[in-house]
Amino acid sequence: MNKQRTADNVQRTAKTYMLVTKEFSFDAAHNLINYHGSCERLHGHTWKLHVTVRAPVGEDGLAFDFVELKKVVNEKVISRLDHGYLNDLLKQSSAENLAVWIWEELKELPLYEIKVWETPTSFVTYYGSEKDQKAVGRKQKAE
Ligand SMILES: [Zn+2]
Repeated sequence: MNKQRTADNVQRTAKTYMLVTKEFSFDAAHNLINYHGSCERLHGHTWKLHVTVRAPVGEDGLAFDFVELKKVVNEKVISRLDHGYLNDLLKQSSAENLAVWIWEELKELPLYEIKVWETPTSFVTYYGSEKDQKAVGRKQKAE
């Protein structure tokens, strides 16, 4: 008998975790303080954002509903940043500080990773605090 393994009949002995990512973009102005370069002057970017959550795949075959992820991120983050001035929220509106701010705003999600692009070729990646990382099962690298 030919045993065929398909996604539907795979026997899961343990919980199968999956990373689920949604991409967003928004337009916002900022300027860096105590910085000497073109970013010290007021200017805008089309910022790109990846929000990744980690969750177990349920009986319905879903780990996290893309629609729900989109709704939460739009409500808590995009609606507040789009066509805004980031320095109203952050004294130093670097991509790094923005990633931490976004993480804190989305704490209700099982966050795994946040990526923020300031330009098409420049981005930062944030995994949250050490405590956050343990909560989603990310293994710590030995120091
Ligand atoms: Zn900039």
